[in-house]
Amino acid sequence: MCGIVGYIGHREAYPIVLKGLKRLEYRGYDSAGIALYDGEKIKLSKTKGKVADLEERLEKEISTNGTIAIGHTRWATHGVPNDVNSHPHYSNSGDLVIIHNGIIENYDSLRKELEKRGYTFTSDTDTEVLVNLIEDVQINEKVKLGKAVQIALNQTIGAYAIAVFDIKKPNEIVVARLGSPLAIGIGEDEFFIASDASPFIEYTNNAIYLEDGEMAVVRRGKEIKIRKIKNDRKVAPYIQELQLNLEQIEKGGYDHFMMKEIYEQPDAISDTYRGRMLAAEGIIKMAGVDDNLAKLLNAKRIIIIACGTSWHAGLVAEYIFEELVRLPVEVEYASEFRYRNPVIHQDDVVIAISQSGETADTMAAIKMAKEQGAFVFGVCNVVGSSISRETHAGAYTHAGPEIGVASTKAFTTQITVLALIALKLAERKGTISNSEFYSYLQELERIPAKVKKALTYNDQIIPIAKAYKDAKNFLYLGRGFNFPVALEGALKLKEISYIHAEGYPAAEMKHGPIALIDEHMPVVVIATKKGHYDKVVSNIQEIKSRKGKIIGIVTEGDVTVRELADHVIEIPETEEFLMPLLSTIPLQLLSYHIAVLLDKNVDQPRNLAKSVTVE
Ligand code: GLU
Repeated sequence: MCGIVGYIGHREAYPIVLKGLKRLEYRGYDSAGIALYDGEKIKLSKTKGKVADLEERLEKEISTNGTIAIGHTRWATHGVPNDVNSHPHYSNSGDLVIIHNGIIENYDSLRKELEKRGYTFTSDTDTEVLVNLIEDVQINEKVKLGKAVQIALNQTIGAYAIAVFDIKKPNEIVVARLGSPLAIGIGEDEFFIASDASPFIEYTNNAIYLEDGEMAVVRRGKEIKIRKIKNDRKVAPYIQELQLNLEQIEKGGYDHFMMKEIYEQPDAISDTYRGRMLAAEGIIKMAGVDDNLAKLLNAKRIIIIACGTSWHAGLVAEYIFEELVRLPVEVEYASEFRYRNPVIHQDDVVIAISQSGETADTMAAIKMAKEQGAFVFGVCNVVGSSISRETHAGAYTHAGPEIGVASTKAFTTQITVLALIALKLAERKGTISNSEFYSYLQELERIPAKVKKALTYNDQIIPIAKAYKDAKNFLYLGRGFNFPVALEGALKLKEISYIHAEGYPAAEMKHGPIALIDEHMPVVVIATKKGHYDKVVSNIQEIKSRKGKIIGIVTEGDVTVRELADHVIEIPETEEFLMPLLSTIPLQLLSYHIAVLLDKNVDQPRNLAKSVTVE
């Protein structure tokens, strides 16, 4: 996974591509590079490290003159992150230059073939193999760049979004995608290429999202030509109007995107149900659900597939569906599911959850479930993403762009969408009473204000973060609906502070992790009133008698845990099934403050990237 950007038009390309790379840096940030054509030759600069490191270098190495350029911010798959392996990559002749997001799986055999024909390689990347394969085709078959790209791609196995141009024809960029996203922004006599629309949003609202298996020749001053890579069939361009605005993708006064996104949750949650839920009238309208109501109501089982934080949202949904709809639910890691031999029935409904809608393992699991006849429903944030197109139906979370790598508002909005679906089905099936239905909708409508209230306790969390920032390990415990929240809290801490943390069902502690508890172990216990409170209080006693340090997440007005715990953080009371929307807030804030105090890169934690578009 990585970010790719390109520009061809009448403006200076360099600043556009550089700014675009900064916006896409969440996708990968171990190296970055830009290639620009200045009218005579390609000027290429690349370096290990962040886009900011590249910028320093660029001042010296690239003049800003040139109206065609491509840029890349990398998340290495083949070859360590160093200067040489950074993109863009040249072909042997130096005429072609390429950027690539994805993996060419058969690169090794292709490379050996090319070496036999005299090609040499300076990097360890699969990408350099691809650009030379394109050159080889171009020379041997005497075809134009577009055709050469097509023939070469048909020899590859893997995933890609690529942009390539030829110094001999500096009026066009050839792009193609399979498995990795690629958007083309369309301005007046100018085109923008990017992994998502954020690099070009201030220039145009019109964009084409290439479909998997499509390629396009983007030529200065000409219409875009799109073709299928496999069979060369022409495709009519479908231009979409974008809904994104610039403010949404900038930090808006916060130090980090993660904090901005934590604080956006009240609005993000209400945006998720706005127009779908009329609490006073007792109505839930969701096109993806309403159009497939029979299918969903007749489901014998729900299988949820997801990765990472989305998997935790899936676990919360398991509890919600079982409680409200009385349906059996299985929650699967997409990466395991796709390589097992899972039993899938025609009357199973598969729900796939992914913020980006590009998660490679989830995508593969969806395809497998479809092949076996299941109905697949997607829950994604990014509109027009691959998963939203691959699924039979779906519901967007409408959380707005999530840039911080550690997911926050995506989690709470995924839970909100899944709760809405469960409530709708429960009402139809009669598994909850009419009055419960009404009161649950009204409570959901109160959640944004309650999240806001939970956020007001932020200042009380900072001293707790100070007290435990140097701990080597953390334990997170919760029961029932709060158990997945404990997992999510531990994941947040691991991701951005690099402190080892484990989430456990509070009662399971006795079967192992209790051995870890001593006076050095901070234990975050979610002990809300409706979540098996008395049982959790007993668990707290067990920790206390082993001298563990207790940070209790409690509902407002709590007395018992306050007496036992070393620290408490309050959250408002709500229905038990909605509690994860609130109990997760202090955990997000705690991990944020610890990471900031440890001086870690909160928005771009090491080794991670925002959307995992490789398996
Ligand atoms: N496979 C390519 C590499 O390792 C591209 C990885 C990416 O998507 O950033 O350089």
